[in-house]
Amino acid sequence: MSEQLVLLQGDITEQSVDAIVNAANEELVGGGGVDEAIHRAGGPAISAECERLRSQQGGCPTGSAVMTTGGQMNVKAVIHTAGPVWDGGEAGEPESLEACYRNSMELARRHGLRTVAFPSISTGVYGYPVNEAAERALKTVKAMLAKHPESYDEVRFVLFSDDDLATYKKALDRIG
Ligand code: ADP
Repeated sequence: MSEQLVLLQGDITEQSVDAIVNAANEELVGGGGVDEAIHRAGGPAISAECERLRSQQGGCPTGSAVMTTGGQMNVKAVIHTAGPVWDGGEAGEPESLEACYRNSMELARRHGLRTVAFPSISTGVYGYPVNEAAERALKTVKAMLAKHPESYDEVRFVLFSDDDLATYKKALDRIG
């Protein structure tokens, strides 16, 4: 299983995978950070589908995941998930963060998307401490890979900074 889980530093919009995951918001309306980068790289087809999802189903509640085209990027799909805003950690943030990773992987699996790239959800503008988020994210992805090993070829965390990569590596060592 371990070779199915990869940690690297990079730009998620440059990955050649089946699906990249976007740290979106509940409204699916352009934010900053990785969301902005994905919309810029993918082009207007992504925003158009987000707009349709917003009017059809009211967006993407925290912890849930929806899918759109990858537009001009070299991916089959973008999975948008809304992470929790950090509020001290006692307001259900860990469970919501776990739901983001679980529901994104479930959506990929249902659509036969076998290689999936994640950013570090909620640890930018949403303020989730990266050390805690890394541990929760990695535990959740490892559990999903253990549950459905035949459904995925690779799940890749694409960390934007070297510091984040180091933090994720340490967290992975800790959880074994
Ligand atoms: P959130 O609102 O969920 O906190 P952000 O986009 O603010 O989302 O940040 C999430 C993480 O994505 C941060 O670690 C940020 O550095 C990172 N990030 C920003 N741009 C990119 C990118 N192009 N590729 C990968 N990660 C990115």
